[in-house]
Amino acid sequence: MEREGSSKIIMKWLFDPPLIVKKFYSDFIWNSKTDKVLLTFDDGPVTGITDKILKKLNEHSIKAMFFCVGNNVEKNPSLAKEIISEGHAIGNHTFNHIKLNRLNETEVIEEIKQCTEIIQNKLNYNTKYFRPPHGKLRMNLSKKLTELKLKNVMWSLLTYDFENDFCKVKKGIENYLKSNSIIILHDNIKSEKIINESIDYIVETVHDKNFKIGTPEECLN
Ligand SMILES: [Zn+2]
Repeated sequence: MEREGSSKIIMKWLFDPPLIVKKFYSDFIWNSKTDKVLLTFDDGPVTGITDKILKKLNEHSIKAMFFCVGNNVEKNPSLAKEIISEGHAIGNHTFNHIKLNRLNETEVIEEIKQCTEIIQNKLNYNTKYFRPPHGKLRMNLSKKLTELKLKNVMWSLLTYDFENDFCKVKKGIENYLKSNSIIILHDNIKSEKIINESIDYIVETVHDKNFKIGTPEECLN
């Protein structure tokens, strides 16, 4: 019995960050601020993947949040513009997608600033939100982000879509989806094969549970 109990807790920790971490970083956004589910996509824009996702979101009339990597915005500005013109929001996911705990403080600020600048210059868009690559946090990040006028958006449901295993995504959604979940998905090559069926499955589950999907504005403000 005990063994079963503890494995359940570990499963929960994998999909949903532990409460102690959420409490320690209580100024970060972990859940939707309203009773609606928010879909977020990290790592794009990537040609052939982000456009496929945009089409799928449009089919379901969903507005989502895209945490873009500056380097990818520089390579694919027209696709990044399409994210905005489709009514989605863009967040800062650093310029080179390096784990922040591997950088010194000056490098961290540079990574974040460079991404904000490319989004402003190429897209004429001001982003208010940030998400750290691989969710890696570091001391003083809150203070730095406040200085840079960015709000950190974490998550409450990690789908593991990057493991390219739809069964795992399905299990996570089935067991851990709440009415105010912030869900992480990826517009990168690792999740390409299962991303559309994952979106369909989220929509289906939200509907079955009588939840609603919200816009970034509704869920983050
Ligand atoms: Zn990422």
